Amino acid sequence: MDSLTNLVWHDGKLFGIEWSVWKVVGWLGNAVFFSRFFVQWYVTEKKKRVVVPSAFWWLSLIGSLLLLVYSLRQRDSVFIFAYAFTWIPYIRNLIIHHRHKKAHLDCPGCGNICAPQSNFCSACGARLAGTGATVA
Ligand SMILES: [Zn+2]
Repeated sequence: MDSLTNLVWHDGKLFGIEWSVWKVVGWLGNAVFFSRFFVQWYVTEKKKRVVVPSAFWWLSLIGSLLLLVYSLRQRDSVFIFAYAFTWIPYIRNLIIHHRHKKAHLDCPGCGNICAPQSNFCSACGARLAGTGATVA
């Protein structure tokens, strides 16, 4: 128990860290960025296939921006470069995800969300509006 207490409270500081507002920003960035793995893992296990949900890209974006702000404050060129450009693919993936989701079609019969460019509902077989499908 003493070693655990010593780990948490070391040299009169929480985790032995010299805390400041900027340390909180940096550690918050680390926590948000790291949490994305658990979100992706959870969704993948739940759906039984590899899935990268939009929450993963949001956590990536927010965490990396917090870490960029922290590294700019610290004037650490290594970490500034590491996080200076990562927001580009995160935002691009969020835009693509949004467009893909918007392109899905709602079935008027059963409310099922159908894949883009579907002619018929995969759940009830109803014809989907606006797809140009014709019944022979
Ligand atoms: Zn349907």
